[in-house]
Amino acid sequence: EGRETRLRVVLRVRPLTCTETRRGDQQVVHSLGDGAVHVSAARHDATFGFSAVFDAGASQEAVFEGSGMRQLVELALDGFSCTVFAFGQTGSGKTYTLMGPLAQSETQPASPALLGLMQRSFTCLLEQSRSRGSDLALSASYLEIYNEQVRDLLSPGPPCNLPLRWSKTRGFYVENQLSVEFESLEAIVSLLLQGSQRRRTSAHALNRHSSRSHALLTIHIRSRAVSAHPAPGEGWGARGSSRGCGQASACPSKQGTLCFVDLAGSERVKETGSSGELSVEANSINRSLLALGHCISLLAKPRGKRTHIPYRDSKLTRLLARSLGGSGITLMVACISPSSRCLSETLSTLHYASRARRVTTRP
Ligand code: ADP
Ligand code: MG
Repeated sequence: EGRETRLRVVLRVRPLTCTETRRGDQQVVHSLGDGAVHVSAARHDATFGFSAVFDAGASQEAVFEGSGMRQLVELALDGFSCTVFAFGQTGSGKTYTLMGPLAQSETQPASPALLGLMQRSFTCLLEQSRSRGSDLALSASYLEIYNEQVRDLLSPGPPCNLPLRWSKTRGFYVENQLSVEFESLEAIVSLLLQGSQRRRTSAHALNRHSSRSHALLTIHIRSRAVSAHPAPGEGWGARGSSRGCGQASACPSKQGTLCFVDLAGSERVKETGSSGELSVEANSINRSLLALGHCISLLAKPRGKRTHIPYRDSKLTRLLARSLGGSGITLMVACISPSSRCLSETLSTLHYASRARRVTTRP
């Protein structure tokens, strides 16, 4: 608490897809064990190190256990602001890692073994909150940033844009975002599905399979303060007075958050050219990822040498300000394809991720 803590960065290399295998793509990424990964292609030969590397054979469970995701859930329960974000080029496995193939097929429920970091975290969160016996209130909000506009994915009706504000006490926050309480795994999974479908509607309208927006699902964890000496006349209704930790001083009210960020990929920018809506879309994705990259490189400098961090350059960086440079605890999952055809995007993701390892926060 209060100490400088590094961002934890792990890497996931997805298997070659059927298409890549069929057309005979070379595999240019090899895990060396111990968090090291090697890229070897015609004119490139480089090794990168991460907190952990998951190769094509790694199961969803192995990623959950080996990435530190379980600890992140526990820290959120302890009152910290925790964030996990997946980044990498389109098709590199970000959504698969966070949600599993479930996000791709609505009709067939995914096999439990394929569930992603999100569902595994929800299970862990609910188990932990029950076993801790404290009186916890859980709620979720789900937003997307599309064309530099923040939209609520949980509120019914057509998507409306929400204002992003700043205050001294709260930092950057979204005004009027809907926060829905939940108590069961089914309830939160159904919120996730509802929100993801709304997110995909905008993607489908433009005939895209890949998400063209950044999505942020935040779980708010509030432990109700337990009063040891309830005021007269209020005692009978005081929640948690018969369980939890009986003493007010020993059990202060805590508020933790656990935020999952699924970033849009950037590489289509080149292909979309300069026509109309797609170009606006691509430009705003590009702009916010560029702003994110810029903030990360500045944050990666030692604290004494840092200049002003331009969080205000995009909505994405404003919303991630706390996770990146403030009081949050952050896990970054970099996703890459092993194919030779993705080499330049892969190298760019690896450089970006390596830089992020030097970023520190003060939880
Ligand atoms: P992104 O969200 O980064 O655009 P996706 O998660 O949609 O990428 O993944 C692209 C494709 O690759 C999907 O068909 C997905 O099912 C598949 N895929 C990604 N990662 C894996 C993995 N680790 N194992 C098996 N298939 C994967
Ligand atoms: Mg995706």
